[in-house]
Amino acid sequence: MSSNILSFCYLIASIFFIMALRGLSSPKTSLAGNSYGKAGMLVAIGATLASPLVLTYNWIISGLVIGGAIGILIAKRIQMTALPQLVAGFHSLVGLAAVFVALAALASPESFGIGVPGRIHLSSLIEMSLGVVIGAITFSGSVVAFLKLQGLISGKPVRFPFLHLFNALLFVLIVVITVIFAMHESHQLFLIIIMLSFILGVTLIVPIGGADMPVIVSMLNSYSGWAAVGIGFTLENNLLIITGSLVGSSGAILSYIMCKGMNRSLLNVIFGGFGTTATPISSTGVSTEGRTPAKTGSAIDAAYLLSNSKSVIIVPGYGMAVAQAQHALREMVDMLVQKGIKVRYAIHPVAGRMPGHMNVLLAEANVPYESVFELEDINSDFSDTDVAFVIGANDVTNPVAKSDPDSPIYGMPILDVAKARMTVFVKRSLSPGYAGIDNDLFYRESTMMLFGDAKKVCEEIVKSSD
Ligand code: NDP
Repeated sequence: MSSNILSFCYLIASIFFIMALRGLSSPKTSLAGNSYGKAGMLVAIGATLASPLVLTYNWIISGLVIGGAIGILIAKRIQMTALPQLVAGFHSLVGLAAVFVALAALASPESFGIGVPGRIHLSSLIEMSLGVVIGAITFSGSVVAFLKLQGLISGKPVRFPFLHLFNALLFVLIVVITVIFAMHESHQLFLIIIMLSFILGVTLIVPIGGADMPVIVSMLNSYSGWAAVGIGFTLENNLLIITGSLVGSSGAILSYIMCKGMNRSLLNVIFGGFGTTATPISSTGVSTEGRTPAKTGSAIDAAYLLSNSKSVIIVPGYGMAVAQAQHALREMVDMLVQKGIKVRYAIHPVAGRMPGHMNVLLAEANVPYESVFELEDINSDFSDTDVAFVIGANDVTNPVAKSDPDSPIYGMPILDVAKARMTVFVKRSLSPGYAGIDNDLFYRESTMMLFGDAKKVCEEIVKSSD
């Protein structure tokens, strides 16, 4: 295959990737977007394999078979609720790939057409240093994010004195060593750059608390894209540069949107929680001391309440995903709609454990898109609603986000479920949500706690309504 045809194929693949991103921006077109992505990847891999630059297929085919098999196995086994840590895990591999490619280029520059050992082009030395720094930060940062999200280490922010100063000095040190490396092409210095960048990845992500993890996952997504750009420059591969830029910029835009949604500063997130308070998060569960006891109800009570309402807003959260309650919920809503009740769904931007988590689950249960609303489009309607039915959600409704500047979710907009005439919380206990903070709404006069697994509760409400 000539280099012109290869470039043309790469252009086609890039167009497919752009169409994929466009498609993935809305639930209605997301399936088509996914197909464009697959088509683009097929063209990209096919064209690369047919390129004269490939000297032997043995390693490539072994990699495709082993990597592909692991990928299929993981995709089939992974629980929907574990997707964020999977994404973080995959980002770490992109980062590590960037590090290995840069090491290979340094060891054998003639194979990459960037010079000969000891006399690698200056621009290539700078490109590979950039790629390796971003790649190493992405790798170790993603590993920490994976461990936090998987619960293998505490999700609480870990801070030590002068952490930000330490990070800043580390960054300056990496820049200085990179300049010296670019002048002398020392392999030892390159290894030191990698090690320092690994450390920086860890120290940037450990201070980030649970409530900010969604933005971090999306930010690491962006970093992994820029790491791919670094590899693209080292390999002089236009497709990697374009695809990496698409991933890098779309991840950055998503992070920006999420930061806006959570009222966070993007700089805070990039620089590892810079400026956030060091107040420890309560992990003690709920203290009922001095509070009126929470009012509890049964599925029969809820069925009565819902059936006698005119309008209901459903607020799904992580617990709905855990219970896989979306289908049972849809049945319950169908039953209410048949009774002439107006039912809508309110989605918080960080409900669940990954961006769009709730939208995906509701789409899977064939909930019509027209009845699903984003926070800003529905929040003012709670005051005019009979029942807010909160199913497996907690942090996204917690009013401390407005009232307590020391709270880890302070500043995050919440769904104003307390403004509805009645609020029903479906969950198994009074335990806190992901951010580890108590929710005063459970003890309000107009709140009914409906304890139980979300799926079972929905099924019981449907039965009790017959
Ligand atoms: P929360 O984590 O605040 O609350 C979920 C609630 O679901 C828990 O309080 C739990 O209570 C309940 N629950 C768990 N299992 C079940 C079950 N089987 N049946 C019924 N209820 C159940 O979830 P939210 O969606 O309200 O908020 C998301 C949180 O996750 C935010 O803090 C967000 O920052 C964070 N996050 C979001 C990410 C994203 O990208 N969307 C990524 C990472 C973190 P109980 O144990 O009593 O049942």
